[in-house]
Amino acid sequence: MPDCITRRRLLATAVGQSAFALFAVDIARASSGAEPSAGRPPIIVDSHVHLKHGDAARTEYSARAIVEVMDAVGIHRSVVFAMSTTTQRSIEMARQAAEEFPGRLIPYVYALPHYERPVIREIEAALDTGLFRGIKIHAGECTLAEYVVDPVLKLAGRRGVPCLIDCLGNVGVARRMAESFPDTRLIVAHMGRYLARDEKLVDQFIELAERHPNVFLDTSGVVLVRKITEAVSRLGSGRLIWGTDGPHPQPDLVAFARAELEKIRSLPITDEDKARILGRNILELLKL
Ligand SMILES: [Zn+2]
Repeated sequence: MPDCITRRRLLATAVGQSAFALFAVDIARASSGAEPSAGRPPIIVDSHVHLKHGDAARTEYSARAIVEVMDAVGIHRSVVFAMSTTTQRSIEMARQAAEEFPGRLIPYVYALPHYERPVIREIEAALDTGLFRGIKIHAGECTLAEYVVDPVLKLAGRRGVPCLIDCLGNVGVARRMAESFPDTRLIVAHMGRYLARDEKLVDQFIELAERHPNVFLDTSGVVLVRKITEAVSRLGSGRLIWGTDGPHPQPDLVAFARAELEKIRSLPITDEDKARILGRNILELLKL
């Protein structure tokens, strides 16, 4: 039913566009470097959203579902990507999402080696479009050994795009990447490890960021919330980046994202620090 599809697409676009219009002025102000502290609410950017997750079910969420959560929570823009699939398919999924909601969704390409073709060319082609602003890498699906990941990190440095990397708590691997590629900005997912309760491990990642100015810490999936405050005092708020790692169905999609936002809003840090973590840092990194 082409008519239905067209109508649904139009509706989706209308929802996204009208909501976006409300935020467009704020986004323009943020991009122009205007002071956010002049009584205006800061731009909220979720820098870690899955079109396809790495869970056992490889759960997918539509662009529309993601934007509905954003609208309900007050998130202006989101970085989206797919994993648990090939680099090529991740590009298709993220491009479709970004085209469906222009200005709201910012696509990353997923780097996953392939036996039949060199994915580095696919990543380059995606970056060439100007639509893709970063690269997602996950140690759960490929090794971060130098012979696999280095060409990707080198390309990211050359092209000035950040890599959002889940290194599954392996600080040695993260250190090698940070040292070997000082010109590549590495956003370490979950401040090191998803749902980590090991304070010493989180400390090691904060220390890594202290030593390497190219390392940024993603606050999604961080349950030792006081460590975020500690990281702000040790690194400055410019090195922390907020994301939800959503959508997540518990307790429900909106409540989950709202709780992640509240996690940062309730920190004992300044409003200026919160504004940086919740949006300004990632917009700067992505040159948006
Ligand atoms: Zn994730």
